[in-house]
Amino acid sequence: MRSEVNCKMGADKYQLKCVAGGEVVVDRYTNTCPEGHDSLLRTVYSRKQIRRRSGLGMFNYFDWLPVDKAVPTNASPITYKSEAFGQELGLNELYISFSGYWPEREAYMKTCTFKELEALPTLQRVKERAGGKIVTVASAGNTSRAFAEVASATGMPVLAVVPSTSLPRMWTTTGNHAHIFLIAVDGDYSDAIAAGKQIAKLSGLIEEGGVKNVARRDGMGVVELEAAFAMSGLPAFYFQAVGSGTGAIAAWEAFSRLIADGRFGARMPKIVIAQNLPFAPMVSAWQAGRAEIIAEKDMKDAEHAIRQLYADVLSTRNPPYSIKGGVYDMLSSTDGRMYGITNVEAREAEKLFEGEEGIDLDPAASVAVASLLKAVDDGMVKRDDRILLNITGGGYKRVKENYELHEIRARCEIKSSDHGALDELEQELREFIKAL
Ligand SMILES: *Cc1c(COP(=O)(O)O)cnc(C)c1O
Repeated sequence: MRSEVNCKMGADKYQLKCVAGGEVVVDRYTNTCPEGHDSLLRTVYSRKQIRRRSGLGMFNYFDWLPVDKAVPTNASPITYKSEAFGQELGLNELYISFSGYWPEREAYMKTCTFKELEALPTLQRVKERAGGKIVTVASAGNTSRAFAEVASATGMPVLAVVPSTSLPRMWTTTGNHAHIFLIAVDGDYSDAIAAGKQIAKLSGLIEEGGVKNVARRDGMGVVELEAAFAMSGLPAFYFQAVGSGTGAIAAWEAFSRLIADGRFGARMPKIVIAQNLPFAPMVSAWQAGRAEIIAEKDMKDAEHAIRQLYADVLSTRNPPYSIKGGVYDMLSSTDGRMYGITNVEAREAEKLFEGEEGIDLDPAASVAVASLLKAVDDGMVKRDDRILLNITGGGYKRVKENYELHEIRARCEIKSSDHGALDELEQELREFIKAL
């Protein structure tokens, strides 16, 4: 039997605080500062020492998730100490956090990326705080697939917008797609985001919020919480591949909470993040010592560059780099580093990792592995440093052995320039809502 979580409700459990101005806000699915600061809001939990529960998947860390109820799930990141790969690299204390499908290690994220950690608490937060609205997400595929899977498993509805080229990434492990409204946009990731913004204005819908959504960040923060319990402490270094950097901001916030908890150590880990060359706007800005991304310098020939990427989920054009509490602040205050990783380096790292650890990787995770290889080569990390490597996705081959993957059909296909499309879409949407 699954244990019910009894908990402090709403405002007693947590409040939101503007990083820039310190304003305290009660959460009504609030994603921006009411005073208009260009800043993230952060959750402040009343419980400073986290309790680790059991049998609730990622909701074992319920104390530090901005929801009143746990969603039934067995999805959770897992952490283990690497033997083979660590030895290959000459590292004695390499810990791997794995988010994906790998039942032999009790990892059950069936959509195979850490986006499931964002989708589960976000859908629950929408249900509790957004007054019956339907959440709208736009993504290059991995986020929308995670939300779709959770929607089909729980019945909490989602409207997902993806570029047509990402349609092959849209599947779930159940055949029930009644709660998923999928829209394909003729264009790239940025076109899907732009269309998503327009669509979210229709009545009955609410924008998910991206990096500004605290459920998304605190959901990803479970990676660090799980790891801290598994390692009985904090790492010296944390490695992750980033597109937006949301996951790395989440790691910084989770490490800060763990330090304040008092039981896991007092030293902030160095956060090391990697992007896939030739499209690496944050690497370019950070190495130039800038707190702003300048498109002409950091994103030259963006479309062309993005088409070359091995890990195209990392192709975010407007990452939360300069916003207060964002990537620049995170790197500055953790003495962080950034690497640019070529396709060749990512593929080589992937081969090495898969050979030693025995699980297939998402291309983005391969970029993270490659950045660790670089840090070993250039001497930044030493043999006895304790390292946490975030494998943000993997197990696509493995999940196919256990599940049939059901492709999700788009209910609408729109051209990014077609303005009449919204009326038609609204009609379809009414039908969808009626049938829920
Ligand atoms: C989305 C994604 C990332 C990058 O995450 P951000 O939070 O956007 O930086 C890394 N790895 C995988 C597998 C992803 O799906």
